[in-house]
Amino acid sequence: MPISSHITSVPVSVDEDKCIAHKGCTVCVDVCPLDVLAIDFVKGKAYMQFDECWYCMPCEKDCPTGAIHVDIPYLLR
Ligand code: SF4
Ligand code: SF4
Repeated sequence: MPISSHITSVPVSVDEDKCIAHKGCTVCVDVCPLDVLAIDFVKGKAYMQFDECWYCMPCEKDCPTGAIHVDIPYLLR
């Protein structure tokens, strides 16, 4: 069974060049029903703090800059 504990393997990735959390955006954090997204206030960027996801997609759809990509597992597509 593959081990997916490393931080780069989480299903939701944030393009830090596009993320405008440093300007006060918290849209993805606000819309996530699982509260798994957070803002890193040191970097001023959003990130996935817990590796859980319902693949419900509002974070990706509502992000004003298109910074979020949700990697939907093949079996759920
Ligand atoms: S919604 Fe997009 S721009 Fe806003 S904090 Fe989240 S990733 Fe960054
Ligand atoms: S797809 Fe849904 S559960 Fe997963 S991070 Fe985005 S809003 Fe949260």
